[in-house]
Amino acid sequence: MSRSLPPALAAYQWPPSNAAIAARTGLDARAIIRFDGNVPPAPPASARPAAIARALADVNEYDRGRYEPLRAAIAARHDVAMDQVVLGAGSDELIVLCARVFAENGTVATVPAVSYSMYRYAALMAGATMVDDPRDADLVFVCRPNNPTGELPDVPVVRGQLVIDEAYADYAGVDALDRVGDGAVVLRTFSKAFGLAGARVGYAVADAERCAVLTSRQAPLSVSSLSAALALAGLASPPDVSAQIAERARLADALAALGLVATPSYTNFLYVPMEDPAALVERLLPYGVVLRAFAGGLRISVRDEVDDDVLLGALSHELADGEAPVAVTRHRRATAETRLSVRLRPWGQGRVLVSTGEGFYDHMLQQLAFHGGMDLRLEGVGDPETGEHHVVEDMMRTFGEALDEALGDRRGLARYGEARVPMDEALAHAVVDLSGRATATLAIDPDPGMAAHAFESLAQTARITLHVTASGRNAHHVAEAAFKAVGRALAQALARDGAMIRSTKGSL
Ligand code: PMP
Repeated sequence: MSRSLPPALAAYQWPPSNAAIAARTGLDARAIIRFDGNVPPAPPASARPAAIARALADVNEYDRGRYEPLRAAIAARHDVAMDQVVLGAGSDELIVLCARVFAENGTVATVPAVSYSMYRYAALMAGATMVDDPRDADLVFVCRPNNPTGELPDVPVVRGQLVIDEAYADYAGVDALDRVGDGAVVLRTFSKAFGLAGARVGYAVADAERCAVLTSRQAPLSVSSLSAALALAGLASPPDVSAQIAERARLADALAALGLVATPSYTNFLYVPMEDPAALVERLLPYGVVLRAFAGGLRISVRDEVDDDVLLGALSHELADGEAPVAVTRHRRATAETRLSVRLRPWGQGRVLVSTGEGFYDHMLQQLAFHGGMDLRLEGVGDPETGEHHVVEDMMRTFGEALDEALGDRRGLARYGEARVPMDEALAHAVVDLSGRATATLAIDPDPGMAAHAFESLAQTARITLHVTASGRNAHHVAEAAFKAVGRALAQALARDGAMIRSTKGSL
């Protein structure tokens, strides 16, 4: 006789995947922008193949040191002893662990009352009951700053065990680590400011006694060695959240101008109290914009200017009769050597940012895009160990692939463009044809190293014919004149010109 299955619990509900949203809306899954995850828009520069190479070489082994270097680095960060740190597969694992350890079949409360749903699920898993008054509970989760409201609650005085969840503390600039001395458990995660949500690493900081109890009731080594390596690399260059905080203010102002007034936020998201937020969330899905509705309001993750402008464009179109937002082509390229993401509007305003760590060629591509009148954001990292070659090649290939995608069937475009651009003693001449055939005829003298190869990579991936002649005394001047000339020639070729595909063959 087999024993009967226990009933499934009401478990944590994930929002729909990009694939599911794409299937519902008919959009390309790559066009979907998640404003519902409270994570940064891109991985940190430290998350690159070299960071996990050592761990990969030993992946057949258990880490018998239990990730001591990572625990030591965390302990050093918070000025505590190493036996005061417990690692977990995301702070979610530690939330569940705390519920089991401190409130099995007992009572759990949250502060504020409306807070992160995982505390309730954890209580359920521990057979515990939720109670309203934190003073009565065996275990009190304080979400500080709070998800979903973004507020910073006071830490209450309670009789039960305090667990202070500081998932977003990096954005608040304050923490409650001093409460560890009074017996509190503080939870942190690498999923938010550190940009490693997929790696699933969190940790608890508590006194050694509580840490020993927590560890004894946890599965051994629940964090993977690859994830531990990513977290350790992240700690070596901790995140600078200042750009996110500035963007949070810009987004809040722009939302307020549309009548969506957010409460003050100590996090990387904004909360707009409103009735029936689900209806608005639904209306925004066809724009590829995914927000999260709660019972009393709308939660919006802060991403970056390019993504947030797509959201603002969609909201303005829906709520304020604004013009329909102009599509941004989003494209990613990930190889063993590089990880690059590009967002491109070929007909833009010259808002450009190229950041791959290859400073000179970042600057060159910026010149091309700026003089081409494009909006371009190309970001990522390569392995510096392999030199500039891969990064420059992949940067141009990623840009070229995005351009090809953005041009579609190339209907209604002038097709040809030509420009001559000097830079001091150097002179460059570029001729472009959006032919659909990839050819590069190049004479760049002197070439600072990668200019000709960069143009070849662009011609191949964008499927264009490119002729460039550039010469002078200074290689930097020669390359810069050439990249600008290609940009200007592209701007001409991209000019709107009727409604036809400019080829007697009928296709490009
Ligand atoms: N705590 C809070 C308040 C959160 O919002 C989240 C993520 N949504 C977590 C914990 C869990 O983070 P993770 O498991 O990825 O560390």
